[in-house]
Amino acid sequence: MTLTPVLSRHWAEPQPWTLAAYRRQEGYRGLPKALRMGPDEVIALVKDAGLRGRGGAGFPTGMKWGFIPQGDDKPHYLVVNADESEPGTCKDMPLMLATPHALIEGVIIAAYAIRASHAFIYVRGEVVPVLRRLQTAVREAYAAGFLGRDILGSGFDLELIVHAGAGAYICGEETALLDSLEGRRGQPRLRPPFPAVAGLYACPTVVNNVESIASVPSILAEGVEWFRSFGTEKSPGFTLYSLSGHVTRPGQYEAPLGITLRELLSHAGEVRAGHTLKFWTPGGSSTPIFTAEHLDVPLDYENVAAHGSMLGTKALQIFDDTTCVVRAVLRWTEFYAHESCGKCTPCREGTYWLVQLLERLEAGTGTEADLDTLTDIADNINGKSFCALGDGAASPIFSSLKYFRGEYLEHVRLGHCPFDPARSTVWA
Ligand code: NAD
Ligand code: SF4
Repeated sequence: MTLTPVLSRHWAEPQPWTLAAYRRQEGYRGLPKALRMGPDEVIALVKDAGLRGRGGAGFPTGMKWGFIPQGDDKPHYLVVNADESEPGTCKDMPLMLATPHALIEGVIIAAYAIRASHAFIYVRGEVVPVLRRLQTAVREAYAAGFLGRDILGSGFDLELIVHAGAGAYICGEETALLDSLEGRRGQPRLRPPFPAVAGLYACPTVVNNVESIASVPSILAEGVEWFRSFGTEKSPGFTLYSLSGHVTRPGQYEAPLGITLRELLSHAGEVRAGHTLKFWTPGGSSTPIFTAEHLDVPLDYENVAAHGSMLGTKALQIFDDTTCVVRAVLRWTEFYAHESCGKCTPCREGTYWLVQLLERLEAGTGTEADLDTLTDIADNINGKSFCALGDGAASPIFSSLKYFRGEYLEHVRLGHCPFDPARSTVWA
């Protein structure tokens, strides 16, 4: 399978982020088409295209838009989740840096479809260059009549606000994001009600990921059949796969859903010379790890799930044979313990204890019984936490023990880490 750059096809051109460049690249072609259609027709078209959420869960985008109640008297809101922070995930930031107008065009189309007159892009505040690029692009779009009153003479009005978050992983969870946007401490809300029913200011709200929204203009411009000509029946389209770690050419690779890691590696320069693939994440650190035996698993939602993991954010972190799996899992778990919002006990306490056990095991001072305790704690987090962060923290524990229990035991047997840290380029 070959690469199919659509979202990324102009990234290497000079200053692709300007409105002039985006229009030269035939941008803002989908919007007039959408505005000539009725909002429900736009929703139906996105449903037919089969676009699935690119933020991790893969929920059908058109269906989510269709949940917004019709004929109610409450305002509707569109919120773009640009708080990308899943370890290994680095696709939305380059997309917004390179072609912010693709996102803005998608926002206008989506807001029109769900009858929203206010939209927000909630972006990580620490990523200042992205924040500034978005703000500049939004100003350009207002000046050109793509935002504001009576957009392109259609009678549709839209205000778009770029909001900077303060750098908490939990604010990428959609309901914590909404609390943060409302000015409160970002902590997840109980779902249901889902945001489509009671979201921002308790009004019907669609929360979509950056890549999902940026994919919409091309669907409007090129049509459903074109979009469905990429990918698989149940996972149609193209997407950004982020390859990082022990590959010679890490970066963003845009390809149809269903491409395999083996095929992606042929573009990303393979694993470093002299080394072999040991393990990898198909969709960020929250998704159960895969090993070399999964090189030919088609990277679409169904096939990855059938092999016991999740496509998630399509963040493929590659680890070669120099990596200590216990140390890698410890690093991820430290991240989850640090980012746990503290609202629920299984995650707040459990992630702390996971770190204590993993530190001991990695240092070679653990016992075989610690492995059972590790599993027990992960069991008490998984499915028993308030939001997906808890499940994500448990996931690398289960999968690393499934494939590399022997390596954990080797630490116990030797009394130290079997990997010479000086040889590892990952954690040095
Ligand atoms: P989810 O499956 O619970 O929900 C997905 C989306 O569908 C949400 O917007 C939700 O509101 C909507 N939805 C689901 N059921 C619905 C219903 N019955 N009615 C109305 N709307 C409904 O997933 P989630 O907890 O929102 O997200 C988990 C995912 O987030 C994980 O798969 C993970 O990969 C991903 N993630 C991404 C990042 C990142 O940086 N992009 C970070 C952490 C986690
Ligand atoms: Fe907070 Fe963790 Fe509970 Fe989610 S699972 S609500 S992050 S404590």
